[in-house]
Amino acid sequence: MQIKSAEFIMSNSIVAKCPPSRIPEYAFIGRSNVGKSSLINMLMQRKSLAKTSGRPGKTQLINHFLINKNWHLVDLPGYGYARVSKSSKKVFQKFITDYFLKREQLLCAFVLIDVRHEPQPIDLQFMEWMGEKQIPFNIIFTKADKLKPKALERHVELYLKKMLETWEEVPPYFVTSSADGTGREEVLNYIGEINESFAYS
Ligand code: GDP
Repeated sequence: MQIKSAEFIMSNSIVAKCPPSRIPEYAFIGRSNVGKSSLINMLMQRKSLAKTSGRPGKTQLINHFLINKNWHLVDLPGYGYARVSKSSKKVFQKFITDYFLKREQLLCAFVLIDVRHEPQPIDLQFMEWMGEKQIPFNIIFTKADKLKPKALERHVELYLKKMLETWEEVPPYFVTSSADGTGREEVLNYIGEINESFAYS
């Protein structure tokens, strides 16, 4: 898919106020510093469409972008635990879970994982939650350029192996680098294919 246009539409913290149009929507989420803003800018080939860490004004908001005038890219804030409830169950921030539970336009989420790190409980728990709620998601491994090819392969394999301890099968995944553009075509073509099947459904 070629990116012909990418425009910021709105930011808000309430899912009911998100754009009402029924076009396909894809959400990007991950822990802070995972490389989400860099990835969005790389995918869109825009220098600062998504605000990178450390820039002021980066608050807890759902950010909608209109791409090629026919689909929405959503930049969600980094997730974290909202509280530890009485049953000592950790719960994700409500406006993030609300977004996933209520946003009917969402066709697929991309959960970003820094490929350098060992599997982190919060990411695994977030994906468990997505699975329980039957929200379709893929994994995007970020910062692939930071590892040598062999180490990269090993880290991805170990991550998938960890997931298979609790999942019957692993979700589709992409290996990306915002520094050198690895994975750009794969992610965009994947979105393009879903958009096409949506158009004929
Ligand atoms: P966010 O908080 O998830 O939006 O993360 P950012 O996009 O702001 O990235 C966090 C840090 O990681 C920044 O210093 C980026 O320059 C760096 N970074 C992000 N993606 C990559 C990547 O693919 N390769 C390399 N080498 N660094 C990256």
